[in-house]
Amino acid sequence: MTGQAHVLIVEDETFVRDVVERYLSRDGHRVTACRDGEEALAMFDADPPDIVVLDLMLPRIDGFEVCRRLRARSDALRYVPIIMLSALAGEDDRITGLSLGADDYVTKPFSPRELSLRVGSVLRRSQPAPGAEPVVSDGALVVDRSAHRATLDGVELSLTMREFDLLAFLVMHRGQVYSRADLLREVWGWEFGDSSTVTVHIKRLRAKLGDDPSTPARIATVYGLGYRYDGVADGAA
Ligand code: CA
Repeated sequence: MTGQAHVLIVEDETFVRDVVERYLSRDGHRVTACRDGEEALAMFDADPPDIVVLDLMLPRIDGFEVCRRLRARSDALRYVPIIMLSALAGEDDRITGLSLGADDYVTKPFSPRELSLRVGSVLRRSQPAPGAEPVVSDGALVVDRSAHRATLDGVELSLTMREFDLLAFLVMHRGQVYSRADLLREVWGWEFGDSSTVTVHIKRLRAKLGDDPSTPARIATVYGLGYRYDGVADGAA
């Protein structure tokens, strides 16, 4: 159990909204709900949530745009994870959602139980792991897991929660090769899932680290196996 969190649900379909609200309330969360993007942005400002469950198909401003605007707001204050709900199972929509800063993506129809587990998992991951060394660094890159921020040459990187988790995991396990399935399990906590999720996040991380994908200095592709973080501070670059 992750304790009580404030969950903001953005969903225009009354039935889905009510079911989600009931389930998450039963988990002990404080739940607020609204039915469109404009309301969501206003509620986000008035009573900041710990996590947002955001439907993609919304009237007026769609979920992608709401996600983009929420991400811009939440990064300025404190990181607020977003789980996107969508009836669209297409790869492109999932990838767009993840690239706009959603932390997880649940396809409709979903079981309320599954959503409740995802909310718990995302909330757990947004809190720093106890006991472990909080700051790891590699040359100009510093990853601070207690503050949940990473800097490169002293400049803070704008990372989603998953991108941060993935980077922290890789830097902590430098020199070791992990398959995409390994990373899904270790970083996402998923025993199974679409491994293209990992590919998307690696691509985004490389871009944010200024790592050239054809000759990456930090995150190497090990063909047929997966990925490996090579420490630039070790002279590998
Ligand atoms: Ca909808």
